[in-house]
Amino acid sequence: MNDQVKDQSRSIRRHHVERLKNARRRFWGRDLSGERKHLSMVVDTPCPCSCFMCGNPRRRWRKKTIQERRHEAIVKEDFNPGL
Ligand SMILES: [Zn+2]
Repeated sequence: MNDQVKDQSRSIRRHHVERLKNARRRFWGRDLSGERKHLSMVVDTPCPCSCFMCGNPRRRWRKKTIQERRHEAIVKEDFNPGL
């Protein structure tokens, strides 16, 4: 990757980090604008929770996630078209 492309991808990433910090200023049920640490955290971890509603169903109920079930349905359809 040449330096110009690297600079561009960095600036794009920084742009999106700033955009998300602004968009998620009021998140987690409160105003995070004064909390620099939590404002940075909310960019990468919008849902810092693993309760039974937010967490991975494989861990909780040994059930596959929606994405996994959707993928399996697509693969199955590809192998058996029309079924
Ligand atoms: Zn939760």
